[in-house]
Amino acid sequence: MQVTFLGSGGALCDHRVNYQNNALIEGPGGLLLLDCGTTAAQSLRELGVHACAVDAVALTHLHGDHASPEQLIWERTYSSPAGPPAFARTPLLGPADLIQPLRASLAPFIDIFSDERGEAREGGVDALTEAVIGAELERCGLRLRWFRVPHVRGVAVDKAAYGVEISDGRSTIVWSGDTTFSPGWVCAQAARPEVVQIFHECMFHPPFFGTVHTHYSELQTLPADVREKVVLMHHTAVPAGEELRGFAGAAQRHQSFRF
Ligand SMILES: [Zn+2]
Ligand SMILES: [Zn+2]
Repeated sequence: MQVTFLGSGGALCDHRVNYQNNALIEGPGGLLLLDCGTTAAQSLRELGVHACAVDAVALTHLHGDHASPEQLIWERTYSSPAGPPAFARTPLLGPADLIQPLRASLAPFIDIFSDERGEAREGGVDALTEAVIGAELERCGLRLRWFRVPHVRGVAVDKAAYGVEISDGRSTIVWSGDTTFSPGWVCAQAARPEVVQIFHECMFHPPFFGTVHTHYSELQTLPADVREKVVLMHHTAVPAGEELRGFAGAAQRHQSFRF
């Protein structure tokens, strides 16, 4: 499989520097978009990948930099490299507590739409998107398994947020999603020989107060054999002069990783 970063930026990044942390994953049976923020459509255009070439969109959680697929949906509906409007339905993949509220939130934006005959009607959510719900799914020749991570978790609240394990049957990669530092699963995944890479979110700024992200100083406490499997992401930019001690690297916008 091949993983190409549409961007490796944080939610508040300057888009001249980086785009949001989304990735295109090329599996043996198609192209999967992992998270779709507001910059996804532009980044795909720059990569020369038409929105209609995406076979499915998998989501990690409902924040704007990860789950804003409206523009992608319209591009797949009304534009096509082949000429006439494609009206390609967009499959949205993930656990029910992501996909159901996402589709409900899209309704005021896309439910009334202009259909294939040019007639305005209701029903756009069902006509233009498809709910593919599950914590374990197969798509694009890839096996996906979602697992809960702590991202905005408090005493009485716990936002639905997931990491994703993705396998093509030969290699497995693990994608942290947005999460606070959780060394337990990171070390357990790194110990599996079939896990070839762990993509983990990382903040380089002074630690953000609260319960949202993982700081670089926390990731540095991981054992050396774990760090060497970890590629940092969601960082926007590595600060000048910062040596990535023992890590496999830091993903850049439009960088590809092949496994
Ligand atoms: Zn984010
Ligand atoms: Zn988030």
